Amino acid sequence: EPPEGCPPDVEQLGRATWTFLHTTAAYFPENPTPIQRTRMLGLLMALPVLYPCSYCAQHLGERINAHPPDLRGGRVSLSRWLCERHNEVNERLGKPLFNCSIKSTDERWKDGPSDGRCD
Ligand code: FAD
Repeated sequence: EPPEGCPPDVEQLGRATWTFLHTTAAYFPENPTPIQRTRMLGLLMALPVLYPCSYCAQHLGERINAHPPDLRGGRVSLSRWLCERHNEVNERLGKPLFNCSIKSTDERWKDGPSDGRCD
């Protein structure tokens, strides 16, 4: 972990980006408007072009091409899609895979566990 005040390394940047993306997916509407769908698609499709880790961006671009996002399914299908893309990175890095059910992504990124320890 770089000291406070230093530029993020690939890991810090990754954690911050996944936090933003999974949280935004968890709060995406169940029934998004065309504008919301278009804006979310723009956000996702910008990552392979702009994400400031070039090999991460290239890999993500390949995975998005293999599995294009379908935003008509709202938060449930977007949360799963993003979890699956994150799992592809986890697999490459030898990290544990995450359960991509909506129950498990909502618990991690929106509701917290039922024991209330995050309330
Ligand atoms: P992270 O993987 O950052 O995950 C943060 C938290 O998310 C975890 O603690 C867990 O609670 C939760 N989580 C884990 N998996 C999932 C999931 N599938 N769905 C929902 N929640 C989950 N690093 C590289 O070295 N090489 C790469 O090619 C690379 N590509 C990346 C591409 C993108 C688009 C991004 C955003 C990051 C990339 N990274 C890459 C960084 C890497 O994914 C991790 O962020 C980094 O290694 C830090 O890992 P971490 O163990 O702290 O947890």
